[in-house]
Amino acid sequence: MSQVASQSGAASTTGSECTFLDSVYKMYDQALACLSLPHGLPEKLKQCHAVYQVRFPVEIQGKIEVFTGWRAVHSEHRLPSKGGIRFAPVVEQDEVEALAALMSFKCAIVDVPFGGSKGGLRINPQHYKDSELEQITRRFARELAQRGFISPAINVPAPDMGTGSREMAWIADTYQRMNPTDINALACVTGKPPTQGGIQGRVEATGRGVQYGLREFFRHEEDVRMAGLSGGLAGKRVIVQGLGNVGYHAATFLQHEDNCKIVGIVEWDGALYNHDGLSVETVAAYKYANGGIKGYPDAEYVEDGLSLLEAECDILMPAALEGQITRENAARIKAPLIAEAANGPVTFEADEILRSRGTVILPDLYLNAGGVTVSYFEWIKNLSHIRFGRMERRHEENRSQQMLSVIEQMTGQSVPPSLAREFISGADELDLVRSGLDDTMCKAYREIREVFWNREEVNDLRTAAFIVAIQKIARTYIEMGI
Ligand code: GLU
Repeated sequence: MSQVASQSGAASTTGSECTFLDSVYKMYDQALACLSLPHGLPEKLKQCHAVYQVRFPVEIQGKIEVFTGWRAVHSEHRLPSKGGIRFAPVVEQDEVEALAALMSFKCAIVDVPFGGSKGGLRINPQHYKDSELEQITRRFARELAQRGFISPAINVPAPDMGTGSREMAWIADTYQRMNPTDINALACVTGKPPTQGGIQGRVEATGRGVQYGLREFFRHEEDVRMAGLSGGLAGKRVIVQGLGNVGYHAATFLQHEDNCKIVGIVEWDGALYNHDGLSVETVAAYKYANGGIKGYPDAEYVEDGLSLLEAECDILMPAALEGQITRENAARIKAPLIAEAANGPVTFEADEILRSRGTVILPDLYLNAGGVTVSYFEWIKNLSHIRFGRMERRHEENRSQQMLSVIEQMTGQSVPPSLAREFISGADELDLVRSGLDDTMCKAYREIREVFWNREEVNDLRTAAFIVAIQKIARTYIEMGI
């Protein structure tokens, strides 16, 4: 197949490629070189404020197993500190610290008034029954809550890789039982099921944010031209890595609502390619039924999945793990635009190579901030104890109905019922979440591009995004006094 690179593209994170944490630090340093901050502040803004490591035993089928987990707090200039908890067989303290740092910058970029944090538990969730996972999650939550690493005012976890609304419901319930008199207890964690204090639209929020971010990018002709592309999102060929929560939703929305063509899907057991486009839902259903994508009928199967990252396309969307595009494969990436739906998919070295080749990267700290943005809405909802839109919706509808009647009376014509329904209907929680997220992603991108286009020394959107974030956090520290 001509479009798929024949060379092996196995990404390597070994050798002297810098670690995820070093990558984040170097990216931060690069942006810092363009700023002049008061002495000592750069160091404070760079490293984690606190890291808690815990080892706890759980009795599983008559045997005691010991689990290791972390919660890193990167910044507390705003409280609570916010960030997901990941369950994965390979989790390191370094990785959790890197992710916590990204959370601080992410929150600053989208003006979410939180510090940055992240948690991780070393576990392969597939090896445990649901009831065992519940026991482990509850114990981990208790360990963190006991030491102030979970609380509505101080530290609020959310889903991340390997966790979802189910785990968040367990965490919320555990915290509530430990703090029965705390009326705001439900705000101790976000990403809960809507029936347990969650908010509509949180599950798909990160994917939605990726879509809104890409839409905003394509509204700026100069930026699109910089990537060697033209026109809007419609018809763009996309390769997505990872059909997890983020990749699945982002790809589905881009396919159905923006007419993108998903030509490639990279998964853990290989990749699929179809020049005419793949149906994301069908591939996801196949993966769900078979445990992987191998054997999927309507596509070319590529055993060395990572090599598909190097295939021709307009947008490459890594939505899986960190460290997927490294100095080993960066020079072979053909996509002119990389949309970082995952956290840290491009290493610092790869970033340098890609920049020198003119590849445009929409950086993670901006593009995947949709999740934490909607988490913020959920936290606000929990603190206000009322669903968004509940008070005003009917009032809004009555006003629109009155306005419509006036128009009909004055023109002597009646508005067709389907149009009238659309005109009258007031915003519900999901509408409000979507409009809040859309607005947030648009505004944040405009701030980043302003730095990019107006500062001589800034040559890429990542550095511009870091500058925006560092400036906002630094201002807070300076104003409040360190
Ligand atoms: N885990 C998500 C992230 O990496 C969401 C964090 C949150 O909602 O707090 O952005």
